[in-house]
Amino acid sequence: MKIMHNAPLNDKNWFQTGGCAQHFAQPTTAQEFVQALTFARQEQLSITLLGQGANVLISDQGIVGFVIQPQINHLIIDRAQGLVTAGAGLGMQEVIDAALDQGLHGLEDFSGIPGSIGGCVYINIHYFEYLLSDFLVYAQVINRATGALETVDKSWFGFGYNESALQSGDYYLVEGTFKLSPVSSEQAWYHKGRRDEIVRHRAKRYPLARTCGSFFRNFRDHESLPLIAGKRVPFVAYYLDKIGVKGALQVGGAVVSYQHANMLVTQQGASSNDVIMLARTMQMRVFEAFGVLIEPECQFLGFSDYPLLKPDHVKFARDNFSSTAP
Ligand SMILES: Cc1cc2nc3c(=O)[nH]c(=O)nc-3n(C[C@H](O)[C@H](O)[C@H](O)COP(=O)(O)OP(=O)(O)OC[C@H]3O[C@@H](n4cnc5c(N)ncnc54)[C@H](O)[C@@H]3O)c2cc1C
Repeated sequence: MKIMHNAPLNDKNWFQTGGCAQHFAQPTTAQEFVQALTFARQEQLSITLLGQGANVLISDQGIVGFVIQPQINHLIIDRAQGLVTAGAGLGMQEVIDAALDQGLHGLEDFSGIPGSIGGCVYINIHYFEYLLSDFLVYAQVINRATGALETVDKSWFGFGYNESALQSGDYYLVEGTFKLSPVSSEQAWYHKGRRDEIVRHRAKRYPLARTCGSFFRNFRDHESLPLIAGKRVPFVAYYLDKIGVKGALQVGGAVVSYQHANMLVTQQGASSNDVIMLARTMQMRVFEAFGVLIEPECQFLGFSDYPLLKPDHVKFARDNFSSTAP
């Protein structure tokens, strides 16, 4: 496995921004993943995992330490058992397509969502009411500290909306096994049609490049919200639509998409700092209008401090930060 130094990352994430990785490797097997962790331990390097970079913002200063982008791409389909085992580096769409070709359906509601199996399990991808955790049955993970490979079942992940145990950073995904439903070839064609329709629908509604998808997450059940017409509205896009930023608000080369108020898009030459300043402006505007602080779904890599506003920073920011920044 080749270890690169000062490897550019702006071509490895969807925003196409950010600096270099101090050290960078792409293990293609579980054994190479173990070797990568051994190298990091020997050199006392901090470790950052990268999938397809579809849900991350990388610091303009780059990432200190070792960036590992698994390219573990095996795919084992057991149609009789309805089980699909996919390596962490495989794209979700490749897995959906291969499963449907073998007459296994279930994952197609995630069609058109970019990302690797590792990144998708990490955040527990969702589309409307569907969660990836509805399908994962067990997985192989690797222990960051010891490099030991472990097989764990679904309960180990403690899945929730945007939540999984991988977010502790103590373990990384090596492969996931999903339980799908066997269907006849005629039924498989129906599900392929549904897949294609979802992809078409998404292409009309969302930007398809230079974005991380939804930048802010929806509110969780326990979070208190103002009632709007007597109702609790957990959807962050509602608040962002109301403040009128869609297609209108821009900071440097980062702009709020004209297609979706919760999607930030970068233009040629944009920096990650532009995205941060735009996101902070949106946080302040929603706070001023509704008294709630919106929080990111996007993962920040390489930042020494959390770059957005925190609940106890909002008052300070309101007094010191101009929400009418360009
Ligand atoms: C156009 C667009 C549309 C989108 N639509 C949706 C949507 O409808 N629903 C949805 O849920 N998401 C959506 N997203 C977000 C994104 O697709 C998902 O979050 C996806 O899971 C990101 O996968 P990735 O491989 O790119 O992960 P990355 O963005 O590379 O990484 C995300 C996080 O996962 C961690 N990670 C990556 N691999 C591993 C691993 N092997 N083990 C442990 N941790 C790991 C990283 O450290 C990072 O913290 C969209 C994104 C875009 C760009």
